[in-house]
Amino acid sequence: MYQHYSHPGSDADGEQAGHAVAILSVQEGSPGVRIVDVNTDYQRLWGGSREAWLGAPPVVVQQEAANRQIFAQLHEALHPLKDSAHGAFEGISGREVSRHHDGKRRHVEWRITAMGTCHNGQFTLVLTQRDVTEQMEKEAQLERLATTDMLTGLVNRSQFDMVLKNEFNRQHRYSRPLSLIMLDLDYFKDINDNYGHDVGDQVLMELADLLKRNLRKADCCARWGGEEFMLLAPETSLEQAVRLADKIRGAIKHTAFPLQSSVTASFGVVEVHSQESVKSVMKRVDNALYLAKNKGRDRVSTGGLLSSAKQA
Ligand code: GH3
Ligand code: MG
Ligand code: MG
Repeated sequence: MYQHYSHPGSDADGEQAGHAVAILSVQEGSPGVRIVDVNTDYQRLWGGSREAWLGAPPVVVQQEAANRQIFAQLHEALHPLKDSAHGAFEGISGREVSRHHDGKRRHVEWRITAMGTCHNGQFTLVLTQRDVTEQMEKEAQLERLATTDMLTGLVNRSQFDMVLKNEFNRQHRYSRPLSLIMLDLDYFKDINDNYGHDVGDQVLMELADLLKRNLRKADCCARWGGEEFMLLAPETSLEQAVRLADKIRGAIKHTAFPLQSSVTASFGVVEVHSQESVKSVMKRVDNALYLAKNKGRDRVSTGGLLSSAKQA
């Protein structure tokens, strides 16, 4: 019967399905759970006719083993309530991901509640199920919108703040190296003025792709503001972060953006000190970037802690 899991969410006419409902009966002392009645949405969700379901065990979730667990949980919860003086069944619920036969993952929310109290050793329960896939996809989409910069697809500033706080906590707890790189395009205003705002946008998008290509999985790269970007590199020392920044600097310089001249960027790089505050690190990275700009741009600065040919 479980293989008949078909078309949750909508029927053949595209009509949106509501709650699948099954009325269940549980006899105290007997391990079974039986269906007393089902609605059409239940048949739509799990297949089969109403007649075929009557007297059969219900399908709460797609996996048989998980169903058995739910029934065991149900019996355990009902057992102390067989004497109606001991209160009412508060219900159990869950959310299940099932793979539909077309390969699509569906999220089904289920809940079992009581219809009245125990009567002659028998409980009557209501199982409701709802396909919440679309709702979850909408929520995920909203979350993406709230955390992503629209132009570049990078993490936005407020999301970066969250990531930063989490990584700071981790760093403070485990004393692991953590570095921060701030990048600002050089003379970007001139690019806009000479080629137009759309070309400027194009440069920002291509730069974001370049940054994504140069990052490791654990790194987080955000658009911090107009033509400013932040890169948080966990498990990365100052020396390693400087090498990474310099690699990106070279890659930007040698990328053929849709312009006649090359694009360059300046970088501030700092490693987070033990127990240092976010504010202090931000100030240091901003100072380091300022120094890189001040020393002529197209360079990496640590605010004076390290020195090399291309570093301020
Ligand atoms: P510097 O080397 O000192 O950083 O000079 P700059 O010209 O890059 O810096 P400035 O702060 O003077 O100018 C930044 C420019 O970035 C101005 C602003 O119009 C432009 N800008 C900010 N956001 C966007 C955007 O989303 N798209 C485009 N095309 N331009 C943007
Ligand atoms: Mg700039
Ligand atoms: Mg700027």
